[in-house]
Amino acid sequence: MGQIYDFAVIGAGAAGLSAAQYGARANLSTIVIEELAPGGQALFIDKLENYPGILEPINGFELAERMRKQAEQFGSSFIEASALSVRKAEDRFIIETSVGPLESLTVLIATGARHKQLGIPGEQEYIGKGVSYCATCDGPFFKGKRILVVGGGDSACDEAIYLSNLSDKILMIHRRDRFRAQKALASRVLSNPSIKVLFNTVAKEIKGNSKVHSVVLENTLSHELTEEPFDGIFIFIGSTPQTGFLKDIAIQFDESGYIITDCNMQTSITGLFAAGDVRATPFRQIVTAAADGAIAARSAASYIDEQRGQAYR
Ligand code: NAP
Repeated sequence: MGQIYDFAVIGAGAAGLSAAQYGARANLSTIVIEELAPGGQALFIDKLENYPGILEPINGFELAERMRKQAEQFGSSFIEASALSVRKAEDRFIIETSVGPLESLTVLIATGARHKQLGIPGEQEYIGKGVSYCATCDGPFFKGKRILVVGGGDSACDEAIYLSNLSDKILMIHRRDRFRAQKALASRVLSNPSIKVLFNTVAKEIKGNSKVHSVVLENTLSHELTEEPFDGIFIFIGSTPQTGFLKDIAIQFDESGYIITDCNMQTSITGLFAAGDVRATPFRQIVTAAADGAIAARSAASYIDEQRGQAYR
């Protein structure tokens, strides 16, 4: 099977890229497996303004590129492939990938999470024809148009603010009577003259012909239905962890499917670590993902030292 790596990182978002840098700097032979472009959820962020020490807002793609280069400079290698399964074989792990198997003494799962769908009629049908899950990717198609934003968390608020630079005809709906988002973000949305907010409101159906033309909304208190015209609907209602490929390994998940770790990012299987959005954690930010990755790399190095009888006690 060729080289046995010390540290294999699955996923090149903030957690994986930070882990790769720390792993390589700790002298671990480190490989990063990523099926898409490096960056993970950061790729969807137009202007990141809360990363400590970065005063000028930075584009998520640019930050990810810098992180990747930094990890490479320290000696990490990268392959473009999908991880299909992970299993433990005696003292090492075998990762089946779309380009063949890889062996590594330790593995970090840093595959993040993917956006959720509403599951309402018309949603699937109009993806790419007015239904979107990424404002920075698709927002420019809706310049000056009528836009509906669904969700009440940080993502929905962030993206609504981004879209307000493109259109002043934005309606944002949330199923509860206040936002879940951090207060600073929520109040920026509420004071934005281009964004009208309706609480206690859900989307019931997306209608169109070749593209979206309207959305049926329901007031959850009165159950009144209204049909409003929209050109685009942007949905930001949270995410689901990317763990489908972990079917061959008895790893522990929480009730929502996120991987349980200890404070060293160690999962229920020794030598197998998890970091970032895929991990059960109360706060998902780029900075927390990067911190998770750094801790995981250190833990992997300690685990390898221990296995070799070289632990520093
Ligand atoms: P989130 O915090 O889970 O919020 C999802 C929102 O969508 C909630 O308000 C939820 O309503 C609503 N929702 C869920 N399912 C729904 C449904 N079927 N129909 C209608 N509404 C539904 O997800 P997120 O906003 O994507 O954020 C994910 C993580 O990334 C969070 O930890 C967040 O802090 C972080 N993040 C941070 C930033 C930043 O700091 N700038 C930016 C983006 C994301 P309920 O409130 O009723 O559950």
